Amino acid sequence: MGRKVIIAGNWKMNKTAAEGKALVAELKGLVADVCPCEAEIVVCPPFTSIAAAVEAAKGTNIKVGAQNIHWEASGAYTGEISASMLKELGVEYVIIGHSERRQYFGETDKTVNLRLKAALKAGLTALVCVGELLEEREGGKTESVLFTQLEGGLEGISAEDMANVVIAYEPVWAIGTGKTATPEMAELTHNFIRCTLNDKFGKVVGETVRIQYGGSMKADNAAELVAQPNIDGGLIGGAALKADSFAALIKNALKK
Ligand code: PEP
Repeated sequence: MGRKVIIAGNWKMNKTAAEGKALVAELKGLVADVCPCEAEIVVCPPFTSIAAAVEAAKGTNIKVGAQNIHWEASGAYTGEISASMLKELGVEYVIIGHSERRQYFGETDKTVNLRLKAALKAGLTALVCVGELLEEREGGKTESVLFTQLEGGLEGISAEDMANVVIAYEPVWAIGTGKTATPEMAELTHNFIRCTLNDKFGKVVGETVRIQYGGSMKADNAAELVAQPNIDGGLIGGAALKADSFAALIKNALKK
């Protein structure tokens, strides 16, 4: 369908500003030959390392994202960061609704939806995470869980807005565990997400939305995952923390 591959690294609560700067400086040499026409490469540092990462990524094919935003523009929200604050730093992407936010910080489909609306209003591209727990998969509930997350998270989002939304399918049982969904298993679920988007926004729009896979993606399994028809890239945790492993993953993902 000609959807451009998007590979985003989620550094989580890792990398000081100096470490992040060094990582981007090393990464840029390793991925300099990746054409931006072929793939989007994104790094998502913690807030305190964003400015250093943006500076190090200037003039390269590496873009910078954040890991969260608050939905209000400003005000009495101690500890929170708004979309305009991130935009001013040069941030272009934001992860919304990561399972760790849902698990540890009370994120719900409603707050995902509020954050998504704020991100889109500010002109950020949102990586909206969905995914089922192990007991939900084992209980045959994967599709109903994903349907609910997509319905709630994307409520009130227009078909036009979807041009700036990427869905990240991350089975929670595969995140940081070394367990990856098989390419076939992941493709079945991505196809379900695609069908849900087609029903909600129409086929023309649904077919253009990129759906990333996340969950223990590494250099050695990226090619077969991204070779699946509905897997359009990856959201990467552990393997994004070193320039060589992230670059190798990107190169392999593009060997479709
Ligand atoms: C993630 O946290 O989004 C993730 C996919 O982590 P990992 O690659 O380490 O499983």
